[in-house]
Amino acid sequence: MTAPRLEVELERIEHNTRTLVDRLAPRGIRVCGITKATLGSPGVGAAMVRGGADGLGDSRLENLSRLAGLDESTSRTLIRAPMLSQAGQVVRIATSSLNTEPAVLEALAAGASRYRRVHDVVLMVELGDLREGIAAADVIAAAGAVVERTNLRLVGLGTNLACQNGVVPDDRNMGELTRLVEQVEAAYGIALTRVSGGNSANLDWALSTEDVGRIDELRLGESILLGTEPLHRTPIDGLSTDAFVLVAEAIEVGEKPAQPWGDRAQMAFGEPPVLRRTGTVRQAILALGRQDVDIDGLIPPAGIEVLGMSSDHLVVDLGDHDLAVGEELRFGLGYGALVRAMTSPFVTKVERERIGRVKALTVVR
Ligand SMILES: *Cc1c(COP(=O)(O)O)cnc(C)c1O
Repeated sequence: MTAPRLEVELERIEHNTRTLVDRLAPRGIRVCGITKATLGSPGVGAAMVRGGADGLGDSRLENLSRLAGLDESTSRTLIRAPMLSQAGQVVRIATSSLNTEPAVLEALAAGASRYRRVHDVVLMVELGDLREGIAAADVIAAAGAVVERTNLRLVGLGTNLACQNGVVPDDRNMGELTRLVEQVEAAYGIALTRVSGGNSANLDWALSTEDVGRIDELRLGESILLGTEPLHRTPIDGLSTDAFVLVAEAIEVGEKPAQPWGDRAQMAFGEPPVLRRTGTVRQAILALGRQDVDIDGLIPPAGIEVLGMSSDHLVVDLGDHDLAVGEELRFGLGYGALVRAMTSPFVTKVERERIGRVKALTVVR
């Protein structure tokens, strides 16, 4: 089969989703499955829905369009604040969006009116991580501006922590979101039905706090896809961490000196590595490079060590591992490596519906 390729086990994604849905449900929290790291793969989205995700979300309209072919009843949320230039498309492709800017909300209302729709709006609140969000003091006024537009429906508030500055979700910042929800409801006599507490970084808090307050949704990507939580990048108990495997083919295998010779300066991508070993190494070159995957977050099989990577070559120390030219090695992936592999046109994506059975062979772009 063609290499490099990214193998996706949809059953594992379904299992991870179901496990998290089942753990969060007793706390009154639904799961919005986030597909952005898979470029809005409909196969992955459908697996999340089978696993009990209440809806899907993605950061890009192109990806949400790919998901539009799924069951009509599956909600599709644009989770990055819409570009003003795309507001018209947003109301057609997304059923809801996360927002902060008055000008964008005005354009969404105009677009929704043009297409005779009502677009659901979640207002994002800044609670300390300093990425998207309206200042807490301005939330009531911002909510009022949405409430008064007939083609927009204010369904809730949300926030996003951890991504920009690693701010940890806790009782304090989540409690503030709950208080703001109550204030908005009291100010306008409405009920907010979607209080979106955050991403996978919220799981620890959501599953351990005494009181989740009004938080009733988390937007989960990494935890479902990779089975890890993003605060410490540790595996989550009971989840599969190998739903994605990157397979690469060996193009040269042999014994080489552990130490290079000749004067040394910079390499293709920065400073030369410190070479600790002497003697020789059993080295393999795989047809895989930085155009295919991020070297950080590429997890080699046990006993094999990554020595370096340039645009098109991955060099590994095979240790005691047997490998011949033309044979393949299988790598695990961290989040950055997954995103790069997914977006590389050189990496073939293979989705399996049932483990061991190929459902679809898709080459993206
Ligand atoms: C990416 C993203 C998510 C999902 O984050 P994970 O850590 O992958 O769960 C949720 N919300 C927003 C706004 C995002 O950008």
